[in-house]
Amino acid sequence: MLRLFSLVGVITIFAWACSKVPITGRKQLNLVPESMLIALSFDEYQKIQQTYPPEVGTPRAKMVERVGWKMAKATEEFLRQNGMENRIKEFQWEFKLLKADSIVNAFCLPGGKIAFFTGIMPIAQNEAGVAVIMGHEIAHAIARHGNERLSQALLAQMGGIALDVALKEKPEETRQLFLAAYGVGVQVGVLLPYSRKQELEADRIGLILMAIAGYNPEEAIKFWERMEKMAGGASVPEFLSTHPSHKRRIEQLKKLLPEAMKYYNQK
Ligand SMILES: [Zn+2]
Repeated sequence: MLRLFSLVGVITIFAWACSKVPITGRKQLNLVPESMLIALSFDEYQKIQQTYPPEVGTPRAKMVERVGWKMAKATEEFLRQNGMENRIKEFQWEFKLLKADSIVNAFCLPGGKIAFFTGIMPIAQNEAGVAVIMGHEIAHAIARHGNERLSQALLAQMGGIALDVALKEKPEETRQLFLAAYGVGVQVGVLLPYSRKQELEADRIGLILMAIAGYNPEEAIKFWERMEKMAGGASVPEFLSTHPSHKRRIEQLKKLLPEAMKYYNQK
């Protein structure tokens, strides 16, 4: 009976839970209220800083923050142009550089909580490189890929129960699913790679965001080439295990460049 009830619930939720990705217009499943994800994200952002304390006041920490504010402004402008500024209405932007030289990763939680691990900085290399990563991660967040992934995981692994129920019944498992859905999972031992479709969307939107912020989107090609090169080594960086790359990515990025360059040249 409980099962039947939850099935009916899921079907009802389906009726209103489909939203659209900015720019691509792809329909997606968002079962979890965004405000609930944002509350959870503010919590987890604090917790992760207890494990990996932020580096404060160094030139590279200041750089992450400087790029961050430019990208946040660009994101607001981009969403306003597309009539989607509601997507970030509850955002409280923060940009931290977390001390962990062995972790090659970065993420953006819903609500605009962004973290770079120090391990990704040699590949970011410069301000434009930081903008590439940040643009890509913000794109995942505003395209609500995390919500989509968590919704799918709740359906597949917990029979479609609501997030607040899942949190009550299986708090630790649910927490791990949440972190995995937002690309933080490696640190807690759960891996959930973004799909190719989501990656392409994040690349496309990310290029536009960095262009609006005044960074040359061509830098994205150089960044992914550096990332690919590192992947050829002994260990695959975390960033690549959650952001699966493929030989065609750089070709696809080149195809996306003209669209982004229009935004860049307007500046
Ligand atoms: Zn990605």
